[in-house]
Amino acid sequence: MNLHEYQARDLLRAQGIAMPDGGVASTPEEAEAIARRLGGTVVVKAQVHAGGRGKAGGVKLAKGAAEAKEHASRILGMQIKGLPVSRVLVVPAAEIASESYVGLIMDRETQRPVYMVSAAGGVDIEEVAAKTPEKITRLPVDPVYGLLPHQALGLAFTLYQDMAQVRAAARIIQQLWQVFTANGASLAEINPLVTTPAGEVLALDAKVVIDDNELDRRPDLAALRDESAEEPSEVAARRANLTFIKLDGNVGCVVNGAGLAMATMDLVKYYGGDPANFLDIGGSSNPEKVVNALRIITRDPNVKAILFNIFGGITRTDDVANGIVTATRQFDVGVPIVIRLTGTNEQEAVRILNAARMTALNDMDEAVEKVVALAREAA
Ligand code: GDP
Ligand code: MN
Repeated sequence: MNLHEYQARDLLRAQGIAMPDGGVASTPEEAEAIARRLGGTVVVKAQVHAGGRGKAGGVKLAKGAAEAKEHASRILGMQIKGLPVSRVLVVPAAEIASESYVGLIMDRETQRPVYMVSAAGGVDIEEVAAKTPEKITRLPVDPVYGLLPHQALGLAFTLYQDMAQVRAAARIIQQLWQVFTANGASLAEINPLVTTPAGEVLALDAKVVIDDNELDRRPDLAALRDESAEEPSEVAARRANLTFIKLDGNVGCVVNGAGLAMATMDLVKYYGGDPANFLDIGGSSNPEKVVNALRIITRDPNVKAILFNIFGGITRTDDVANGIVTATRQFDVGVPIVIRLTGTNEQEAVRILNAARMTALNDMDEAVEKVVALAREAA
């Protein structure tokens, strides 16, 4: 689950990381009032679940309250990477001497949290990683021991020479470990971590992503979810208990099991198509889930054909067939459906589909080739 910057800031501050006091506004007038209260130069920052807000014009310095109001009214009408901005954060502006990057992510390769630290911060860290990876120091951390003090210092030395700044950065790096572990985060990052001309070290931007598996035991974190800032189809899928991720292709996929869903997407690519989504209807697929899945997928105008790939084990293929038939009676799916199913209650499933004048395939390659061709014809 993505958090907004203003929410992430609270988690950082709770672990003692100093961040300037500010306020969140949803109207230009509110932004103006916050800027007046803060006094001096402020930064008005779009609150959306997207990086690169600065480059998109979503981060603006304002000399006073009137200018803050102007910036806020422009930013509040913006879309950044397709996401509408409904709130801005207003914080006192810091003077910047240098910008660094400090991030902590859960890394599958090393199976550990990994620090990524770079003196080349502020800009797109993805670009630094792609073009000049040697500028990023990586440090996997043993989750049992946590980040040891000498490791934090070692990372801080890659950023600064001044001993006071090294110590300040080491402290923030250590506190970021607490942010990460105390909140079940899969990512916690500060970009930029700045030095001021006076020599202070300050975190100016915070990003935290919470592992969804943490949310059941942490209602306080779950309450931070902002559904208005999320992909509507993913919100609907979560409510329907489906694991769904929207993608950019045109072949809708309904699959049971995450592994088969991944394999299906690979095969769609292999045959020259492009999946419109990842969707796992899970083990016990009652017909209702299938209906919900079809509703969510067909809402995407990019979808030109839909593939069902069901391997019946615990999942009963006749349940899935019933779901497909029910869905097509309830609403107009509007695009061709290719059904491949095999396994538990397969004969019953085929009978149900045939009775509704639909057919099922048995072979996965054949089904994928067919759905890719149908999507291409319609595109
Ligand atoms: P992002 O682009 O979404 O990561 O948003 P950031 O909060 O990181 O802001 C982008 C850039 O705006 C930073 O790298 C800074 O260069 C600049 N910026 C942000 N806050 C301040 C500030 O308080 N003072 C100054 N001078 N620049 C800032
Ligand atoms: Mn940033």
